[in-house]
Amino acid sequence: MCLISSSKLLVHQHSTDSGHNVGFTSVDAGNMSLTVLEQHHTAEDTRNNRRALESALGIDPGTTRFVSQTHSAIVQSSGDRGWGQVDTLGEGDAIISEDGRDPIAILVADCLPIAFTTNYGPTAIAHAGRVGLLDGIIQNTVRYLRSLDTQGAGTISATIGPGICGKCYEVPEHMRDQAAQDHPAIFSQTTWGSAALDLPAAAEAILQEQDVEVRHVNECTFTNERLFSHRRAPGIGRLAGVVLPTHKA
Ligand SMILES: [Zn+2]
Repeated sequence: MCLISSSKLLVHQHSTDSGHNVGFTSVDAGNMSLTVLEQHHTAEDTRNNRRALESALGIDPGTTRFVSQTHSAIVQSSGDRGWGQVDTLGEGDAIISEDGRDPIAILVADCLPIAFTTNYGPTAIAHAGRVGLLDGIIQNTVRYLRSLDTQGAGTISATIGPGICGKCYEVPEHMRDQAAQDHPAIFSQTTWGSAALDLPAAAEAILQEQDVEVRHVNECTFTNERLFSHRRAPGIGRLAGVVLPTHKA
């Protein structure tokens, strides 16, 4: 089955040479979180949104894997059950599908979703906010992917999805300066002149250090109203970054 047109539900979608689709949902797809719920919205609304997305993407409803995200540096394996059977794989901020066959997802609203594919099979998706990025969630995900490369010659590609950009992510000056000690690329300034963090630039620098090919979606959640943003509209919902196998005709 071919990918059904899902342009309204996704702000970005591309297929990879590895036989996967990488996508990031829009507000039109609705809230993807079971725990961040706008008033009058229920977890059942989220389940309906998830099933509609999965149907549009050509995967079996309830098979996508999610984790309980805590801004940690913990990477979980995708296991054998999707959210239709277990809400979560457990605490973690990245998921690896070791054979690349499981649909995997991460939830964000300003933090960065980073999708990984490889030319030797495995896929991954990570949630990198300030805390997780500084604690090594990206490096841990890449390390896990590399450990599955038995030939030792594989390539890893990453897509940095929609998140708050370096011109919008205002933080206290001391926080920026401290973060920039280890990650110079994170140093930024808002359009209105105050201290800011550039998570996409920092993520790119880390990935390049790890010899990972990088692609940017270049969408800012804070300014693009087709995306959920915790800072612009707290508690409304979360978008999903997804990696799933392409269904063959
Ligand atoms: Zn921005």
